[in-house]
Amino acid sequence: MAKLSYKTVTDDELKNLNEQLAKKDAIDILKWAYNHFGDDIVYACSFGAEGIVLIDLISKVNKNATIVFLDTELHFEETYALIEKVKAKYPTLNIELKKPELTVAEQNEQYGNELWKTSPDQCCKVRKLKPLEEELSKYQAWISGLRREQSETRAHVQFVNHDNRFQSIKVCPLIHWSWDEIWMYIKLHQLPYNELHDQNYPSIGCANCTLPVADGGDTREGRWANSGKVECGLHQ
Ligand code: SF4
Repeated sequence: MAKLSYKTVTDDELKNLNEQLAKKDAIDILKWAYNHFGDDIVYACSFGAEGIVLIDLISKVNKNATIVFLDTELHFEETYALIEKVKAKYPTLNIELKKPELTVAEQNEQYGNELWKTSPDQCCKVRKLKPLEEELSKYQAWISGLRREQSETRAHVQFVNHDNRFQSIKVCPLIHWSWDEIWMYIKLHQLPYNELHDQNYPSIGCANCTLPVADGGDTREGRWANSGKVECGLHQ
């Protein structure tokens, strides 16, 4: 099969492919993705619980895979500490931290202080979307840890998707995993994880925009809490 390209693959072709892959599990999807795209695929990892599972699975399939983290320079120190632990555990993986063009000080100067309060969409655009756009322009495809049960906006994600936002192919191996399965895998394999997960932070983004959630709350409830925002715009 010729390498899938966002510009040429049709919706029907992707539908057929997803039907063929329907019974596969996450590791088979990753094997398919690395066989198909070779070095032309990158995993954009947020180092959340799903990210840790995917990194471990990816290391079994392609120990030299490239993984990129969008370093907004506004993450919790626990997140940066976790990245160092993961780098030490998987020394052959190529883990890159991608920073925005503007430092936080430059952003303050250009847009005003605390843009995440005055215009979180603009802040995510500068610190996440543009850097990811730049990064993804180097590859045919990217991997994401989206799961269908995470939110209504993610309920219909397929293993292989047209990504209209970044004009790329987006591969999502964990679509069928539940939150409990993610944690069973982490515990079973004794993987490092963000210490904030033990303090009621199920989903972790920038420190300014992430709150803990009440017991039994929705896993993404703490992201941009008290605002209408539910996604940073990376997944549409
Ligand atoms: S999550 Fe918050 S701080 Fe981070 S880039 Fe988006 S708005 Fe800015």
